[in-house]
Formats: sequence, C-alpha cells, structure tokens
Amino acid sequence: MWEFIQPIINFDNPISYAIPFFVLLMGMEAYLNYKERSDNYQLKDSAASISMGLGSIFIDLITKSTALILFELIYVNYGLFNEALSGTILGWVLLFFLDDFTFYWHHRFSHQVRLLWAAHVNHHSSTHYNLSTALRQSWAELGYKYLWYLWLPLLGFPPLMILTQISISLIYQFWVHTKHIKRFPTFFEFLFNTPSHHRVHHAKNIIYLDRNHAGILIIWDRLFGTFMEEDPKEPVVYGITTNINTYNPLKIASHEFINLGKDIYKAPTFSDKLKYLLFPPGWSHDGSTMTADEMRVDWEQQKAKKDV
Ligand SMILES: [Zn+2]
Ligand SMILES: [Zn+2]
Repeated sequence: MWEFIQPIINFDNPISYAIPFFVLLMGMEAYLNYKERSDNYQLKDSAASISMGLGSIFIDLITKSTALILFELIYVNYGLFNEALSGTILGWVLLFFLDDFTFYWHHRFSHQVRLLWAAHVNHHSSTHYNLSTALRQSWAELGYKYLWYLWLPLLGFPPLMILTQISISLIYQFWVHTKHIKRFPTFFEFLFNTPSHHRVHHAKNIIYLDRNHAGILIIWDRLFGTFMEEDPKEPVVYGITTNINTYNPLKIASHEFINLGKDIYKAPTFSDKLKYLLFPPGWSHDGSTMTADEMRVDWEQQKAKKDV
C-alpha cells in the first residue's frame, strides 16, 4: 500500500508555486481597472470566485489523491509503454499533446451533457471577466474530471507526470481570463488558446455558445469544428443564458443540479428522465426550451429574415 501512498505525499504541485503570481496579477489587474474607472472588477463577484477556487483546492486534495491511487494501480499493473514514456523527452512531448487533447474532450462533453454541465456551469456563472474568474473552479467537476485521463497511465505515463501536466495546463488557463490583452500575432492566435479565444468561450451571445473548449492549444477546436473567432462587431456579453444573480458559493456550486433534479422529477417517462441527464443543456421533453445548437439555428434564421 505504501508504494501507492508515497507519491501522493511526494507530489510537488506546480500550482502551489503559481498561487503568489495569481494573487500579484489579480492585484495588478484590479488596480488597472480602478485607474480606468472600469466596473469589470466587483468585490462580491471576485470574492465568490476566489471562494470557489479555495474550496476546489481542498476538494481536490481528496479527488487528486484518489485519482493518483487509481492511476498508480493502472500504471503499475497494466501500463503498456512505461519505460519509453517515464520521464523521457518523448514522454513529455507526447503527454503535452495527449493531456491537452483529453482536456478538450472533457471540456466539450462538460458543455454537451446536462449532468456534466450542472457541474461545469460554475465556471461560467460570473457576468464579469477578469483574472479572478479563472479561480471560479467547479467543485463537483473534480468528482469525475480525472476519469477522462485514465487512458494515460494505461499507455504508460507515470501518474505524477500526468498530474504535473494537468496542473501546468490549469496554470496556463489562468492568464487567458482577461480583457486587457486584445490579440496576439496571427501564428500565436492560430496555435494557442488566448484571451481572445477564451472570451468567446465565456460569452452568452448565441453565436458564441459552446465554442473554444481549448486548454492550451486551440488546434483541437479548429480540428473538431468548435472554433469561433472573436468578432469586434459582436462584443462578448459574459455569463450564462439564464444568470443566477448570487454570490453565495454554495448556490453557485449547486443551482444547476437543483434545476436538473426538478426537470427529472417532472419528466413523464423514464426515458425522458435519462435524456435530461445525458442530453445537452436546454433539451426538454416538451420542446419548451432550446439547446445551444437549436438557439443558433433559430438566431441565424431570424438574422437571415432581417437581412432580406
Ligand atoms: Zn466551459
Ligand atoms: Zn474560463
């Protein structure tokens, strides 16, 4: 058993080193907002986001430890290419891409499956967009997030390498939550997730819904058809289609689970109840609400009518 517990104790999480920089950068951005007399930082909103971030650190201690034990069991007993991938340059390069690919699909499904959305929606519920929004991490998501990565120890990547790369990806995703950086040179915007791309991801404008799920590389969105360029003619409106108007972390963490529960309760058949769990947010058994794709089609039809 010790061989499984030891790596948890030894894990030197890169996020612990990043936290002072997070605080410093948030302070700088808030000061810039104050100087510009912008209302982009709101104390209650940022306090709620930071509370969500702190809560997620504690929950993650448990879920990450459990994931590490599971990863270790798979890696030790069933790992396929352990020697070639453990700590080698080839291993790190491959892991960079495979971790980012895994994140993309985990994130995309979190927007496409109502049960997962109930967990992920926390990250989108702020109507503000600044560095503190990055800390608005989902609590419930930690309960399933690591399951997406189980195929990596099976390939032969050591568990601590995987967790380190997951943390590096999370650190990268911090700085993209800002309005202060407009655009980078074309090649960078083409390859990487940037503030411009991630602003689109946090938009509630119908045209932008469920776009740009990238972690570090935006190439996955380009490859799998979910990429959307930020359009200066369509300024981003931040938040979710039905805003929750609360700064209470417990309500932020649970509101969509409650809505989901109510929908399941009122669904007439077992099959409808299941569809509420697994179909995209907005699906309803009586067609009274719309999914993001349906809203987009409707929006485009309305726009085409106006343009005629
Ligand atoms: Zn998202
Ligand atoms: Zn975000």
